[in-house]
Amino acid sequence: MIVVFLGPPGAGKGTQAKKLSDYFEWRHLSTGDLLRNEVKNKTELGLLANEFMRKGDLVPDSIIINMISNILENQNSGIVLDGFPRTIDQAKSLRLSLEEISKKIDKVLFLDVEESNITSRLSQRGRKDDDPEVILNRLRTYGELTQPLISFYQKEGLIEKIDGNGTEENVFNNLLKVVA
Ligand code: ADP
Repeated sequence: MIVVFLGPPGAGKGTQAKKLSDYFEWRHLSTGDLLRNEVKNKTELGLLANEFMRKGDLVPDSIIINMISNILENQNSGIVLDGFPRTIDQAKSLRLSLEEISKKIDKVLFLDVEESNITSRLSQRGRKDDDPEVILNRLRTYGELTQPLISFYQKEGLIEKIDGNGTEENVFNNLLKVVA
């Protein structure tokens, strides 16, 4: 099973993706976490990526695709993709990588959250890229580059829209109904 989480920053993708992967014992693959780990370890990739992340810009597609394709090829269990793909080009590249290993996306879970909830969740979190100006840029970037993925995947009949406004437990129950 391969599921993709889609939704604006602050929608709770990370939290729900972790819960879902724990529940089914699937691999949780968060490009944000992978990148933050590279930054923490001051690797070449991390130093480069951080220039984009601290401004709320996307890290270039080539870097992300490189980072993720090795992991995908060597993964046999279920996978929960969290924060990837984030652009149409990433989605096309993901499709090719999966085709090469005779796999495909089973579901794209779109976490739909009201805008007032997004900003209040983000401002409570306190991550480095969660200061107000950077948040604004991340939301703008989401609208421009990531939101188009909803219709991209809708055309393939893969989108499952999930109400992400409730409590953590509520949202998780909605998710399970769709995935099970
Ligand atoms: P959020 O969903 O809250 O914005 P993430 O942890 O998914 O947070 O991502 C944090 C940052 O990492 C993004 O703002 C971006 O700079 C970078 N990033 C993560 N995933 C990708 C990706 N697939 N493509 C490009 N940049 C990414």
